[in-house]
Formats: sequence, C-alpha cells, structure tokens
Amino acid sequence: MDRDKILLTPGPLTTTLRTKLAMLKDWGSWDADFNAVTASVRKSLLAIVHGADSHVVVPLQGSGTFSVEAAVATVVPRDGHVLVLDNGAYCKRAARLTSLMGRRCTLLPFDEAQPVSVAATEAALRADPSITHVVLIHCETGAGVLNPLQPIADLCERLGRGLIVDAMSSFAALEIDARKTRFDALVAASGKCLEGVPGMGFVFIRRAILDGCAGNSQSLAMDLHDQYVYMEKTTQWRFTPPTHVVVALHEAIAQFEAEGGQPARLARYQRNYETLVRGMAALGFQPFLDPAVQAPIIVTFHAPADPKYDFKTFYAAARARGFILYPGKLTTVETFRVGCIGAIGPDEIEQAVHAVALTLQDMGITSAAPAA
Ligand SMILES: *Cc1c(COP(=O)(O)O)cnc(C)c1O
Repeated sequence: MDRDKILLTPGPLTTTLRTKLAMLKDWGSWDADFNAVTASVRKSLLAIVHGADSHVVVPLQGSGTFSVEAAVATVVPRDGHVLVLDNGAYCKRAARLTSLMGRRCTLLPFDEAQPVSVAATEAALRADPSITHVVLIHCETGAGVLNPLQPIADLCERLGRGLIVDAMSSFAALEIDARKTRFDALVAASGKCLEGVPGMGFVFIRRAILDGCAGNSQSLAMDLHDQYVYMEKTTQWRFTPPTHVVVALHEAIAQFEAEGGQPARLARYQRNYETLVRGMAALGFQPFLDPAVQAPIIVTFHAPADPKYDFKTFYAAARARGFILYPGKLTTVETFRVGCIGAIGPDEIEQAVHAVALTLQDMGITSAAPAA
C-alpha cells in the first residue's frame, strides 16, 4: 500500500499534498526570496491572533518544546518565580524545563480530568507575591482538557503578573485574540493546527516587555530576544533556518486562510470530534473526559475492559489498516488517544472508526466498554 497512513496524532499530523509539494525545492538562507517567505509567515501568524499592534512573533528552529523553553528563558528574568498550573503531562514538562533553566518554579496541582481552577490560581498568587509569571497550557494535550485562558489572562493582568501560554495544540483552531486576551508570551508550532510539517515553533511576545527581555536568556540558541533583533535587522534567521519547514508552513497558511481561517478550522475539527465520539461510542468506547471540558483537538478513550485488549496489538492492527493511533498519557487509568486535527475531515474519521471496528473483530472483542 503506497498511500500515506492517516496520522490521528497531535503532531506530526496528516498534511495536504500541496503542503508536501512545497518542500521539493532547495532554498538558500541568505536568499531574498526565502527571507520574503519568512516575513510573510510572520505577518500571517500575527494576523491570526490579531496581534500586530501589541505583539511581535519570533520563530525558532526545533520542535514545540524548544520554543516553550525559549519563551521561559527569554521572558522570565533569572530571579523570576514561575507558577505552573498543572493538570497534565505538558504542564509537568513546562515546569521541568523552567527549573532546568534555573528559574524558581512552583507547581499548582489540579485533577487531570478537569480544567485548572481560576479561584485556586488567584489564591496562590495572592498568597505568594514573589510569583512573577504564570504558565498556562491552553489545551492540555495529555488528556485533551481545555483550560480557561481568558479568566487566567484577566487574573494575571489584574494582579500584575506575567503570563506565558503554551497554545501549541490550540493555536489556529481555538480563538485567541491578543486584543482581548493579555499575554506576555504565547507559544505554538508549525506542525499542529496550522497543518504544516514539524520543525519550527514561534513565540508571540508582548511589545511592552520586549526590550526588558534582553539578556534574560542564559542560552544563546534559545534567546528569542536575540533572534528577534537579528531578524529585524537582517530579515534572516540567526542560525540555519529549517527552510523546507518554513516554505511548507507558508503553503499550509495559504490553505488555512482559503479555508476561512480559525473559525473554519475549528468547525472542521469540531465535526471530526463529533464523528469520532459518535462512531467510537457505537463500538462501546467511552471518552475519559466530560464533554463540557473537552477541547475538539484530541480525545482520550478508556481502554476496553475485555482481557483480550492490549494496546500494542490494537495499535498494530489499526496501523495495518492505515491509521496511526496515539498511546494514552495518563498515569492513573489505561487509555489511548485519537487526534481530531490535521488535513482530514469526517470521512477519514469514519474510515478510522471502521478500521477500529475491524480491529476489535480481529482481536475477538465484542464490546469496547471500559471497566464499570
Ligand atoms: C505538541 C505539544 C508541545 C510540543 O511538543 P513537541 O514534541 O516538542 O513538539 C507542547 N505543548 C503542548 C500542549 C503540545 O500539544
């Protein structure tokens, strides 16, 4: 079978042929044509969050985590104190990298099946005036929970604390409007809801704090202030750019705009999500989250209670039918995840559900219902 497998994973994800074809050309990093592509991508990214007046956008080589690390290192002074609102695996990763960057870090733990609590965050901030910054994961891709960005942003503004948002799996799908929502830094990447290929992240930094970020970073490669200043001066990336990733993202953004931008992307993902949950429910699968707190980005399902179930076998059989599922990331219960994002629609999701049904049949599982 020479057709690409459908990736039901939260990045890398399935991209269009047009996006893939954009990579069939070599570009010089000094070349004016390539630097015009970078400039166009940056302009489009700022437009997506309506941030041209209030923010700059700084692209960075690497996977999304590189940009989260760079945002913390660049925005938080070395003697800063970061409060990470923790309801999942990506929150814990953000806390770990914050500590490794040498910043004081406090975790505020929450249930991974629930959004973080604004009231508890307010209490923690009032109790400890030494906290300078809050880190919020917008969509916690670990379980798929949507966190309350607007109330947390309002709270940070009211209490005079900085806010760093990891919007990796929500940016371009869920609404983020810099005119309404105040953040110091917001991080996303090429290979998520913009449906580009992985290899670069980007960080929106509030103009009002930009100058004050000079010299914060103890890392050369992760210094977004330095990257910004160099890029503004020369139009070039500081170090070798991921040229093919940038041109693929440029092409992916053109398709995003033609589709109707963020509202249209959200609508398609919402249809994917509904098709998925309905189809899987008919097989007995039960989502881990209450639909009220679920983002239409990635769905965590309970593993079937049937003793014949085993994720490795399940994964391999679905893979043989052309669909790549994703393991669970929860510590307490056995689960697996299915992404709703990527250049796919309800037809592909229905085919995926059908593949899962045949897979269950192969495994001799008659109902995928979880343990009571
Ligand atoms: C994908 C993702 C990241 C970045 O992960 P990488 O593997 O470094 O690309 C960070 N945070 C969230 C919430 C994500 O979904």
